[in-house]
Amino acid sequence: MGDVGDTFNDWKAHNKAIRAYYGVPCPQCKIGRPKTNASILLPGQRCKIDKYVDPRPRLSEDQIKAACTANNAPYFERTR
Ligand SMILES: [Zn+2]
Repeated sequence: MGDVGDTFNDWKAHNKAIRAYYGVPCPQCKIGRPKTNASILLPGQRCKIDKYVDPRPRLSEDQIKAACTANNAPYFERTR
């Protein structure tokens, strides 16, 4: 047992590392809702609240790998 939980925690650490490295606060949220926390957007991601799309190109596998290495997080290959 415990395998599922470990995988889940690995995924969480993985996603956290990528967000810490490449995530930026949505500029549209800052304008529209300056008192609340802005959504954190990854390259190419769309804000769920105001539909702002981050203009940066999507992350390559190498960029994702670099973020995981820098944050000591597990790396998973994206299958899609
Ligand atoms: Zn936003």
